Amino acid sequence: MEVTLETIEQCNSRNIPLPIQREVRQRCGFGCVICGIPLYEYEHMEEWAEVQRHVSDEITLLCDQHHREKTGGLLPKEVVSLANENPHNLKEGVSKPYNLHFAGSTVTIEIGSNTFTCQDQGYGTAMVPISVDGTPLIGLILADEHLLLNLVIFDEFNSPVLHIKNNQLYYSTESWDIQLVGTTLTVREAHRKILIEIKFCPPNKVIINRGRFLRNGVEILVRPKNILITNNSFLISGNSVTNCFGGLIIGHHDKPIGGFMAIGSIPRYMGDRKEALKFEKESLNRIDE
Ligand SMILES: [Zn+2]
Repeated sequence: MEVTLETIEQCNSRNIPLPIQREVRQRCGFGCVICGIPLYEYEHMEEWAEVQRHVSDEITLLCDQHHREKTGGLLPKEVVSLANENPHNLKEGVSKPYNLHFAGSTVTIEIGSNTFTCQDQGYGTAMVPISVDGTPLIGLILADEHLLLNLVIFDEFNSPVLHIKNNQLYYSTESWDIQLVGTTLTVREAHRKILIEIKFCPPNKVIINRGRFLRNGVEILVRPKNILITNNSFLISGNSVTNCFGGLIIGHHDKPIGGFMAIGSIPRYMGDRKEALKFEKESLNRIDE
């Protein structure tokens, strides 16, 4: 069976209702309660198998590493409980490098030297830097004075391998190296090249400097100075638009998104596995160009 976003959603019977997620995020200071990293999983502090219920007070936020430590028994339940009562990001007098607080009336997104700026339209304002055939590959949603990251990384065979949904590490097929240094978030495939690099510039700007995005035979490389669509060697740089919620929009969208560049149709890759892997290696080198 081909894994699609829809089947992932259906399989996740433990999906927590959105209003409860929102309460938990606010209570925990938008980060892992132990270390503050703003990419996390929702952790039921009571054993899910026993309680089978979503109660905001019983759910906390743990980053991938601390979640694994808890599951592996290295991080005792009591420590998590204590941290939940005094979350890292809400501690008094602690420097808060991870507190990616938003303020202002507009949001600016820069991607590969192109920028778009939109008005804050309140809770749920969505910005889509890259979308292909109706699937936003990267998106930022404004919620309670924070920008929540949405990211889907597909492989050459069009299967999702990493899905971050409103800062929640929602689904991944392997272990990813996710790091936040200062305000720069990088996602690497284990010991490999950077797959995405995002710099949050509080209070109201986000810069996407590097990334490799694949979907339906389209490959997009984001580099600091430009965006390259490898299918047709098309380079995009220096665009700047205002009052716009989108960036690079490729293919058909049922709900149209205005962007700095919209491309209706381009040639698509249809390779076999061997060719795809060769192609991956070359592409990862080109992100550094
Ligand atoms: Zn953590």
